[in-house]
Amino acid sequence: MRAADLSDDLERVLYTQEEVADRIAELAGAIDRDYKGRDPLLVGVLNGAVMTMADLCRAMTSHCQMDWMAVSSYGAGTKSSGVVRILKDLTTDIEGRDVLIVEDIIDTGLTLSYLVQNLRTRNPASLEIMAMFRKPEAAGSAVDVKYVGYDIPDEFVVGFGLDYAGRYRNLTDVATLKPEVYQD
Ligand code: 5GP
Ligand code: MG
Ligand code: MG
Repeated sequence: MRAADLSDDLERVLYTQEEVADRIAELAGAIDRDYKGRDPLLVGVLNGAVMTMADLCRAMTSHCQMDWMAVSSYGAGTKSSGVVRILKDLTTDIEGRDVLIVEDIIDTGLTLSYLVQNLRTRNPASLEIMAMFRKPEAAGSAVDVKYVGYDIPDEFVVGFGLDYAGRYRNLTDVATLKPEVYQD
């Protein structure tokens, strides 16, 4: 669905489907160049990174593999729980692999710093991060994100895989919600 289909719920569109696609194509180009001949393993963080992963890997012109992890962070609300737990682990042995974590959005950076620490203990050849969106708090944190789609303001956004209480992931644009949606 597009933002126009949800005009009752949405406050403001930050990025259209077309803008997101253009930015993904640029990042895919950079990743192709950086990983030339190395067959990277893209590790998507479920569920939010599904759209980013699907579009990123298809925009690439070189080989890659995919695997997925699920971690708990926000639960159903809009505030971080502060507790990160692995709900689903990788099925791939990443020792000696060039691993690129694919994330939807970084807010506090808590989820990612936990993931990076955890994956480092498995001795990958390299470990980098791609995030489609990044909020100000993460931009100033210790987590080093090599590929960032867009730096966005400190607002809760939905669409392009990002949910509120499980909904809006299939919105193709990225937008903020009207306050009354949170109050219902
Ligand atoms: P962090 O640990 O960096 O604070 O939060 C990371 C996770 O929280 C993201 O992967 C995402 O699932 C969720 N999250 C953070 N900010 C937003 C947001 O603005 N909208 C949505 N829908 N999820 C968010
Ligand atoms: Mg995520
Ligand atoms: Mg969520």
